[in-house]
Amino acid sequence: MHVVTRFAPSPTGRLHVGNIRTALHNWLWARKQGGRFLLRIDDTDRERSEETYVEAIRADLAWLGLDIDGEERQSARFGAYEAALARLAAAGCAYPAWESAQELELKRKIQLGRGKPPVYDRAALALTDADKARFEAEGRRPHWRFRLDHDAPIAWDDLIRGPQQLEPALLSDPVIRRADGSWLYMLPSVVDDVDMGVTHVVRGEDHVTNTGLQLQMFAALGAAPPAFAHEALLTGSEGKLAKRLGSTGVEAMRAAGIEPEALIAKLARIGTSLPVEPVADPAPLIAGFDFASFGRAPARFDLAELEALNARIVHLLPFARVRERLPAGMAEADWDAIRPNLKTVAEAADWWEILHGHVEQAAAEEDRSFLAEAAAVAEAIDWSDSPWPQLVARLRESSGRAGKSLFHPLRRALTGRDSGPEMGALLPLIGRDETVSRLRAAAG
Ligand code: GLU
Repeated sequence: MHVVTRFAPSPTGRLHVGNIRTALHNWLWARKQGGRFLLRIDDTDRERSEETYVEAIRADLAWLGLDIDGEERQSARFGAYEAALARLAAAGCAYPAWESAQELELKRKIQLGRGKPPVYDRAALALTDADKARFEAEGRRPHWRFRLDHDAPIAWDDLIRGPQQLEPALLSDPVIRRADGSWLYMLPSVVDDVDMGVTHVVRGEDHVTNTGLQLQMFAALGAAPPAFAHEALLTGSEGKLAKRLGSTGVEAMRAAGIEPEALIAKLARIGTSLPVEPVADPAPLIAGFDFASFGRAPARFDLAELEALNARIVHLLPFARVRERLPAGMAEADWDAIRPNLKTVAEAADWWEILHGHVEQAAAEEDRSFLAEAAAVAEAIDWSDSPWPQLVARLRESSGRAGKSLFHPLRRALTGRDSGPEMGALLPLIGRDETVSRLRAAAG
């Protein structure tokens, strides 16, 4: 089987953590199977869809590294939906209905008042030709419903949830086209999945009931259905995340210094039995992707955990991956020396400033002569070979200092900070002359 998956966002906003996760799982499965991953823009709702969001979705997927093998747009396929509806209508699987929203609401209230499930009563099927002609004459346009087959049990083996069953008689015949001719999501998605050869539909479990309805649509169109995988939703700190970052969108993540690799590593594994690991390359995530590892319980998405993972991933990023975002002139050795200390790539600029800018330090009185001695030693040692170990070895001997009293005044004098990257890595980057001058300045 040639696997085809699709990610089908509505372009009514930026991507957020939940739908990035859905996109990622579709991508991982397609990549694992050597299949195709399609982007389908669900823009049947012309009023809420915006072109800027289409562009943002493409840009966000590209930033995440989720390359697509094709893009489709529902707004370009209305003809296919018309044809499908005509076929369904001819086969008695779709029918026009004229109730207004208010009438339907009233029916629902009455049913609920009687303790009955609010299932559409199919009154439209009892209309006579004369009734219909009268509605037409009054200029009323019908909406269209898909007629569920109450005798055909709905069942599928969900790749995540296991065997699923729904009772069609307990479901309303879904409205598939509005009276104004616009399409609801339900039928176009099925027509697209058939035409695009989609083999696996991976989406949130809020779509489980839709799947039941759509399975009957596949059958009514004479098409074999794809396999379905419904994932448990994310909970927890999405709200908190929104508060801290202003939104859950990719843009906010990016501005907060979250690397795409961190989001990918987190979202590939959250809610599964596999561990979240700091990987800067998706290969192990692709190889390990397995629907059987997904749990049924909602998973908590935690921003603090994402930030911690992000730091671990920043420490793994090679120079070539980040060079464009580093201060001008920063070389590979600089990056390698400072990256183990960063939480975000942007913080590299602070360390660059420390290496090459002005460092403010006022040493404590009792450290002054020690630092003057350090300046003299720094001037005397051989800088072509590991200057830091030489410096501390000579100073340990001459000053009798050890541990914190040896290292801390040197770090403060040379970086203006109490902690940071290994001094052994920093010292050659600061260089001989600057080292000597900083130590002298601190000695007063
Ligand atoms: N546009 C739908 C959504 O975002 C797509 C659902 C599906 O994957 O079929 O919910």
